[in-house]
Amino acid sequence: MNKPVLYIVSPCYNEEKVLPLTAPLFKEELDLLINENLISDQSRILFVNDGSKDKTWEIIEELSESDEYFEGICLSRNRGHQNALLAGLEEACPRCDITISIDCDGQDDISAMKAMVQAYNEGSEIVYGVRNSRETDTFFKRFTARSYYKLLNFMGAEVVYDHADYRLVSSKVLKEFKDFKEVNVFLRGMFPLVGFKSTSVLYDRKERVAGSSHYPLSKMLNLAFQGITSLSIKPIRFITGMGITIAILSFIMIIYTVIGYFLGNTIQGWASMSIIILFMSSIQLISLGVIGEYIGKIYLETKHRPRYIISKRTFKD
Ligand code: UDP
Ligand code: MG
Repeated sequence: MNKPVLYIVSPCYNEEKVLPLTAPLFKEELDLLINENLISDQSRILFVNDGSKDKTWEIIEELSESDEYFEGICLSRNRGHQNALLAGLEEACPRCDITISIDCDGQDDISAMKAMVQAYNEGSEIVYGVRNSRETDTFFKRFTARSYYKLLNFMGAEVVYDHADYRLVSSKVLKEFKDFKEVNVFLRGMFPLVGFKSTSVLYDRKERVAGSSHYPLSKMLNLAFQGITSLSIKPIRFITGMGITIAILSFIMIIYTVIGYFLGNTIQGWASMSIIILFMSSIQLISLGVIGEYIGKIYLETKHRPRYIISKRTFKD
């Protein structure tokens, strides 16, 4: 069997402190896999500079000049982790047989790549990296992450539990993935939709080697929301269900009110009236917001804007 060409794809945003530390580790792992005859020596490490404001791109250029195993592409501006990763995967697809996407901050255990490649050799086209524990997380992060996965599954989106974006995807899958043209991308929820044989590999998630996370609570909430609204329309159905329930309750209230009218109890009930108005108007506003979120998505999708623009490459196109 021909040895597969592997591309390690890693998005980087303001990672000047991190890259000089992790790039050699990626290279070490690639050498190891090549020496063990698991992958071809045409394999490469592709960094995607996601519009960094620091020296990240300069570092990527230096790396690629000093070592042919490093390659880089530069996006024309910051597009966020998901789009940057997508750019890297699409760039790598025609040149390789398999890709492994991994954050460049050293949090994902690089040594799990071997098991991923082996799983590919045994016939899986997608191999999900799944965290085997969440000990390095704060209680808050652990709790919110777990609840989020449950919520996503409840909404009917198929996501692999405790899997982020550390995964092996073959170019066969990526070719099919090209037809998923949405601009609101949530990769971990989209790959299961492509199908093909898949499996999981457990790995340890560590602390960042340097620098700090680019995902504060606000961005995390954003990604969480993005995940739900790009994969499921259940929230809208939920609103419909709520509407029906409230309509039934209102019907009962109407009967109650009419009876009250004939019995002469018409002055009482100011408090309940105010509560109903407050309750109903807040429900209506929330519902409008949720529906608006989907309309906003439709608006963005109909524009068909490019998901990313590559401004520079360290190699010839
Ligand atoms: N990243 C990116 N664009 C962004 C934000 C982050 O390419 O706008 C990259 C970042 O360089 C890192 C990965 O995405 O390689 C994950 O980001 P981070 O480590 O900040 O998130 P966390 O691991 O804390 O969720
Ligand atoms: Mg990180």
